[in-house]
Amino acid sequence: MKQNCDVLIVGAGPAGLCAASVFVNTNVQVVVIERDPFLGGQLLKQTHMFFGSKEQYAGTRGFAISDILKESVLQAKNIHIFTETVAAGYYPEDGFMLAIEQDQTLHRIGFKKVIVATGASEKALIFENNDLPGIFGAGAVQTLMNMYGVAPGKEVIMVGSGNIGLIVSYQLLQAGISVKCIIEAAPVIGGYFVHAAKIRRLQIPIYTQTTIRKAIGTDSLEGVEIVSLDEKWQSIPGTERIESCDTLCLAVGLCPMSELLSQMQCETKYVPELGGSVAIRNHRMQCTNKDVYIAGDVAGIEEASSAMLEGYIAGVSIAEDLQIATPKHLVLRENSVEFLKAMRSGPIGEKICSGLKKVEESHV
Ligand SMILES: Cc1cc2nc3c(=O)[nH]c(=O)nc-3n(C[C@H](O)[C@H](O)[C@H](O)COP(=O)(O)OP(=O)(O)OC[C@H]3O[C@@H](n4cnc5c(N)ncnc54)[C@H](O)[C@@H]3O)c2cc1C
Repeated sequence: MKQNCDVLIVGAGPAGLCAASVFVNTNVQVVVIERDPFLGGQLLKQTHMFFGSKEQYAGTRGFAISDILKESVLQAKNIHIFTETVAAGYYPEDGFMLAIEQDQTLHRIGFKKVIVATGASEKALIFENNDLPGIFGAGAVQTLMNMYGVAPGKEVIMVGSGNIGLIVSYQLLQAGISVKCIIEAAPVIGGYFVHAAKIRRLQIPIYTQTTIRKAIGTDSLEGVEIVSLDEKWQSIPGTERIESCDTLCLAVGLCPMSELLSQMQCETKYVPELGGSVAIRNHRMQCTNKDVYIAGDVAGIEEASSAMLEGYIAGVSIAEDLQIATPKHLVLRENSVEFLKAMRSGPIGEKICSGLKKVEESHV
C-alpha cells in the first residue's frame, strides 16, 4: 500500500508522542509508526515515580505519564497511528519509508518531514556461556515483570549499578524476587544516591570493581563466576568466586538506535558520552539531511524528561518549516529549550553537555 503524509514519526515513546502532540488541532497529516502493540515506549514498563520537574510529570509513575501523553494524540483526526508496525527501511530513490505490519502488510509511506524517535537498544556483555537461558537484559526483565506479571526467576544477580540496575533491582525485590547482589565494574556506584540508598537499606550488597567471568549451567543458568578488578580494570587473580543464581540481569547501558538515520544519509558520529553513534544535528533537532529530525534516546541516551522536551522542539521546528507554527508553538519550543538547559546544568548533565558539543559544533 502506498500513502503520503506531511510528517512521519517513527517511534511512539515519550519523544515521538510529544512530537506528535504538536500537530494536534492542525491540518498537518501525520503518520506515527510504532513496532509495539502499545504507545508509550519505555514508560510503559516504569512503575516507579519519576524524578525531575513538575512540568515533566515528576512524582507520576511512568505508565501513567504515557496515558497523559497519548490522550490528545489518539483523539486527533489528522494523526494516523500504526502499532505493531516496524519502520524497516528508507528507500532514497523513491523517497519512502517501508513499514511492515505484524500481519506482513507492507506500507510505502512518503513524507515531507520525518522525526526519528526510535529510542535505544540494550548493550550486552561478552563472557563465557552468555547465551544460557536465565540471562536477560534489564529491559526484558522489566517487560516480563511490569507489563506481563511474569517473574523472570527466583534468585537474581544484577550486573550494573546505574539507575536502571538499581531501579530494576528494587522492582524485583518489590515483586518478591530475591536479589543476591549487584556487581559493578567501576569503582563507584553509577546511579543516583536515592536509588542506591533504597537497595542498601534492604541490605543487598553492591560490589564495586567486580565483574562477571562466566555463567555456569548446562540447560539453564545455575550460577556465575565473578572476580574483583584492579584500578586498571584487570581481574585480580585469586579473587574469583562462585555465586549461585537462576537469573542474571544485565543493566550495562543503552545504545541509540540510529540505523534509519544512516540510511537517510544523515551524518552520524560516535560519541561515548551520548551512548554510541548519534546524528549530527542543530539546536532545532534537525539532522544534516534537512528533512530529518531526531528526538529522545536516539539523539543521545538521557531521560524521558529530555526525550519529551526534544520531541516538542523537533515537532515545533517542523511546524515552522511547514509554515503552520503559531505563537503558542513557539512558546512551547522556547520553554522546552529552557527546561532542557536547566536539566543539563547540574553535575549529572555535564557528561551530556560535553557529548552534545561534539555533535552540535560539527554541524554543517
Ligand atoms: C529502568 C528505567 C528507569 C527509568 N527511569 C526514568 C526516570 O525516572 N525518569 C526519566 O526521565 N527517565 C527514566 N528512564 C529513561 C527513559 O525511559 C528513556 O530515556 C525514554 O523512554 C526515552 O524516550 P524515547 O521516546 O526516546 O524512546 P523509547 O521510550 O525507547 O521509545 C522508542 C519507541 O520507538 C519504537 N521503535 C523503535 N524502532 C522502531 C522502528 N524501526 N519502527 C517502529 N517503532 C520503533 C519502540 O518500540 C519504542 O516504543 C528510565 C529508563 C529505564 C530503562
